[in-house]
Amino acid sequence: MTNIQAEDSALTTALTQVDQAAHHLKLSTGSVEMLKHCKRELTVNFPVRMDSGDVRIFTGYRVHHNTSRGPTKGGIRYSPHVSLDEVRALAMWMTWKCAVVNIPYGGAKGGVLCDPHDLSLRELEGITRRFTTEITMMISPDGDIPAPDMGTNPQVMAWIMDTYSMHKGHSVPAVVTGKPLNIGGSAGRLEATGRGVMFAVREAFRTMNWELQGASVVVQGFGNVGSVTAQTAHEMGCRVIAVSDISGGIYDAEGIDVPKLIEYNRANKSIAGFPGTIPQANGQLLSLPCDVLVPAAMENQLTRTTAPMVQARMVAEGANGPTTPDGDEILRAKNILVLPDIMCNAGGVVASYFEWVQDLQNLFWEESDVTLKLERIMIRSYHDMDDTAKRMNISLRTAALVLGIGRVADAHQTRGLYP
Ligand code: GLU
Repeated sequence: MTNIQAEDSALTTALTQVDQAAHHLKLSTGSVEMLKHCKRELTVNFPVRMDSGDVRIFTGYRVHHNTSRGPTKGGIRYSPHVSLDEVRALAMWMTWKCAVVNIPYGGAKGGVLCDPHDLSLRELEGITRRFTTEITMMISPDGDIPAPDMGTNPQVMAWIMDTYSMHKGHSVPAVVTGKPLNIGGSAGRLEATGRGVMFAVREAFRTMNWELQGASVVVQGFGNVGSVTAQTAHEMGCRVIAVSDISGGIYDAEGIDVPKLIEYNRANKSIAGFPGTIPQANGQLLSLPCDVLVPAAMENQLTRTTAPMVQARMVAEGANGPTTPDGDEILRAKNILVLPDIMCNAGGVVASYFEWVQDLQNLFWEESDVTLKLERIMIRSYHDMDDTAKRMNISLRTAALVLGIGRVADAHQTRGLYP
């Protein structure tokens, strides 16, 4: 992964995007200022006993960006790069994302500064339970509903649900989504982000009259989003020619056998050395000639330094904020179609919404129902965005922001300013 340049912080990107959209929406200065601020921000410092017996202090955040369209929703990430500004940007993107796909939520995000790879399961559980307790005044099934993000998974969600439920004295599955199936999770939630990315890509190909069969796909990141995107691309008949994880990348011009790679990755905890592939440095991966490049790792990957090297026909943003405003400008100048994160990776939060609805109703759906409803929302949202782009003669990214921010501003207007 490339180094983050100071001027390319996620928050700078997010705030620049608000200005871009506000210009087209002709919003008042007051509205723009409100949208640029997060409504509530909590920083917690808390002690956890480590396996060594020592006590270590961890720092975590939970930020609510906007509640105009409903309770707040957004993941919790465990990463050594977490900062309050990063969480603010990610919370803001959740607000626009939920509005673009028209689900009744505002945006939130949380994070704990830690490296989950360096922690034992017991330490992870200790951090999660204590962090949940520390942010308990911020989360609730009708106020703010966390979910997985980078470095967290269904098990972490189970500990959050259990800790919150223990405090309440009864089980509250709807307080968090992305849970394991046996405690109120939804079928198809784990796969939803990656599948959603490919539903968006397929719709873009249809709209452009491009051939998806045999199209070459490069995926940066092989976590939950990257691996399912690669798997779905493979199932749709694409040729996944390169993928990467933190250990580096692998390349096979003929197309990687993705199901075998997923098994290999499960057994080896890394994709490095997958038989029949050529090792590929992470920087090189972004510059491979291909039809679809999917950055599915983290923010700030396509910058003024790396974007000039991109040789893809389309960039489909699986990660949140992988392209900086400068990078975006460069991709646009190169005529590369960019499917923006807030639309392209919204499948996860859409399935989270389905999970929350199921939990509140105590009525559970088949995976095929979840995936079909997800597909419909992704297709509809793609066209809402594409129609806006054509009507206003703007990029898909600006169109998604105009759509999302416009809906939030509208909801605020309808509710009126209190008091
Ligand atoms: N962390 C995911 C995202 O960035 C999912 C959030 C959710 O399901 O609430 O969209």
